[in-house]
Amino acid sequence: MQQCNACHGIYAPTLPDGTLYFHVCPPLSVLELKAALANNTLTLNASAKAAYDAAVAADVAHPPAANAVSQVDALLSTLIVARQNARNENVTRQQPDPAHPAILSEGAGMTTLPPAAAPPAATLT
Ligand SMILES: [Zn+2]
Repeated sequence: MQQCNACHGIYAPTLPDGTLYFHVCPPLSVLELKAALANNTLTLNASAKAAYDAAVAADVAHPPAANAVSQVDALLSTLIVARQNARNENVTRQQPDPAHPAILSEGAGMTTLPPAAAPPAATLT
């Protein structure tokens, strides 16, 4: 198994049926977007900022019910924000060496994980 150093996703480079898997980091999740906005590591463009401010005001004016999605969450779920140092293992056959495809973006890299320990044997009681 391998772990992406950017998104921390864990994946097998080869699937059980032998198909190769090429990891691509997903965009930031709603929780990651909220954290980035809270610590000022993400700046929204003018239209997204206006929509975000309106969603915050709507949630203040009409707080969402316990199981309802807030206006802010609904808005953030529509944003597609790539994470910094995103990894894209899809290959390109373009230069410098078409005979040896390279991945599109190394990003923050990946870590090869040690083999997983065998799951504990089931115990019948
Ligand atoms: Zn990733």
